[in-house]
Amino acid sequence: MNLEFPFDPLKRSEEVENAVTEGSKRLYYRFRPAPYYGGIVTADAVGCSFLCAYCWNYKRNLHPERFRDFYSPQQVASKLLFIAEKKSLRRFRISGAEPILGERTFLHLIEVLRPIFQKKPHSLFILETNGFFLGYRPNLLERLAAYPNLMVRICLKGTDEESFEKITGAKKDFFRYPIIALKELLKLKVRAWPALMGDLFSSEAVDRLEKFLKEKDIRAELELEFLEAYPFVLENMRKRKVQF
Ligand code: SF4
Repeated sequence: MNLEFPFDPLKRSEEVENAVTEGSKRLYYRFRPAPYYGGIVTADAVGCSFLCAYCWNYKRNLHPERFRDFYSPQQVASKLLFIAEKKSLRRFRISGAEPILGERTFLHLIEVLRPIFQKKPHSLFILETNGFFLGYRPNLLERLAAYPNLMVRICLKGTDEESFEKITGAKKDFFRYPIIALKELLKLKVRAWPALMGDLFSSEAVDRLEKFLKEKDIRAELELEFLEAYPFVLENMRKRKVQF
């Protein structure tokens, strides 16, 4: 996969989606219970529209085409439900990658959600996304709004266009799409909120982002997450000149 920084994330999304899907199946490399959110069943996938300097799954997302295990949405849901039953958990998510790269992966996600909510209507699915494709194609959002127990966490990556480009590797003009997704989801009364890697920004930059979101009428609280400083993460950040 040819990659020059900064890249067009739309083009990258298309290429990555082609590499990580086979019909309605998608590549995953692990299914596990994880300790986050007080315990959450997690399907780890590969493939992202961005390539964040701090991504804990950087190598897999750099070369998603090296993976071979395609799973249908029904297989993913049944693996997740099995772990939920065994570990008495009621929260679910997809991690390690971007769940929504384009229409095919969006439909795959919907088909994962459907059996989970059918079998466990009181469970919660936390959609962790970079929000790019959802903001680019906001007409998809109503289908997510149909699931009252779906929560959407959109990681904004940067506090402005410049920091967004430096961190994600994607061209800065695309900074606005995750914000569009967030605004539209809130309009549809979906429980959605923005997140940001707090360690990478000054308190002034975070304040500026919060003010910017308020000006856009986005009232959800900004979640600040903290860096998992694995040696390879620090090395990638050094190479990409992202200060920590
Ligand atoms: S958006 Fe998330 S999964 Fe994608 S590269 Fe960035 S940190 Fe990794």
